[in-house]
Amino acid sequence: MANSDVYWNPILETLPQDKLRELHLKKFRKILTWAYDHSPFYHELYKKAGLEPGDINTYDDIRKVPQMEKSLLRDAQNRDPFPYGTILSVPLEDVTVYHQTSGTTGQPVFQPDTWQDWDWCAETWAYILYAQGYRNTDRVFIPFGYHTAIAYWMGHYGAEKLGCEVVPGGVLNTEARILKIQELRATALMATPTYILGMADTARTKLGIDPAKDLNIKKITVAGEPGGSIPTTKKRMEEAWGCKVYDHVGATEFGAWSYECTFQAGLHVNEGLFLVEIEDIDTGELITESGRRGKMIISTFDRFAQPCIRFDSKDIIEWSPDVCECGRTFRMIKGGVVGRVDDITKVKGVLLAPTSIEEVVRSIPQLGDEYEVIVTKKGDLDDISLRLELVPGQEGNEESVRKTLIDQLRIKTGLGYNLEFHEYGSLPRYDLKAKRFKDLRKDAH
Ligand SMILES: [Zn+2]
Repeated sequence: MANSDVYWNPILETLPQDKLRELHLKKFRKILTWAYDHSPFYHELYKKAGLEPGDINTYDDIRKVPQMEKSLLRDAQNRDPFPYGTILSVPLEDVTVYHQTSGTTGQPVFQPDTWQDWDWCAETWAYILYAQGYRNTDRVFIPFGYHTAIAYWMGHYGAEKLGCEVVPGGVLNTEARILKIQELRATALMATPTYILGMADTARTKLGIDPAKDLNIKKITVAGEPGGSIPTTKKRMEEAWGCKVYDHVGATEFGAWSYECTFQAGLHVNEGLFLVEIEDIDTGELITESGRRGKMIISTFDRFAQPCIRFDSKDIIEWSPDVCECGRTFRMIKGGVVGRVDDITKVKGVLLAPTSIEEVVRSIPQLGDEYEVIVTKKGDLDDISLRLELVPGQEGNEESVRKTLIDQLRIKTGLGYNLEFHEYGSLPRYDLKAKRFKDLRKDAH
């Protein structure tokens, strides 16, 4: 029997892959039928494709079901009933909580959940936190006011669900939050990588507190940015806080679908609650082997107010070839979400993923945590500048750092950059998610 102290759900998390596949078909048919019967949007989408839920009889049949995406979701929400439109699959009065996406890729979309859906959301996070070693003895500090953003609300309720004591750290400023963490001897923390690094910097420079020595944080769960799966950024966070940092990936519309466990070997896809398919970006061919990147098509099984069925997430991921020592049978993805179909842009004719620049910058200890990438057009040519800060005391090493950067950036991204060194503390600091990549070419003449 599986060790119940390792897994939140010892049965699902160790179910053999063939049994998981059987479960996927069963659960997929259930949510598909629910959406077909209750959502005018889905009913119309499937009718147009000549498809009825009864047509899905094998695992491979799932691929016949039309995909949907954010723009379709937005269109459906622009119809009645306000504000969720024709995608809503429960009576409006059954919705008990509202959230929305951040709107970084356009107008925000709305997220209705019923009371049961919300319990499911907490459940997804309970898997994450339990796998990362959270137990009922932990005191978890969340240093944000969560407002309408869903991730930390889910983290909050997920932590409560497994018995942790949760301290909501909104309203306070960064210094007051650090002092609260110290006063309460908090043992765990959830935040974005940007904020984890920023907090450590504030603790050292403004309060004379070394988080690794003077605080009691034993583990950190990060969300909202790719940093938790970029090895050099993760190392910076772990050194600054003297503890393990674990990644998770989720999104408002489909939920928290993957998590790292304490073995830190990759992100497990929660195959008990989600179906993740990877598709070739150009051909749409299904990718089942490791080592080949594609975009993620995701289905959420047990969330009913606004079903998410074969949603084109535009996230780029790849299957990991590894099997994790933790014993979970849930497959892993390698390197987290490595980019988005939208933001892997071409610079000087080369495909550039901004995460590669972060990996290089964070690997050089003489450099501070902050940096900025600015792409402009000079005449017909793309011009790419990288603004950096040397940490105090390293000003004399500018030339050697410059040489390392030029070599490493060339190897990792295939591009040459204008390197600009700025005084420590002068580049913008971000509270939540950083906007370090600025493509100004559209404004150029
Ligand atoms: Zn594992």
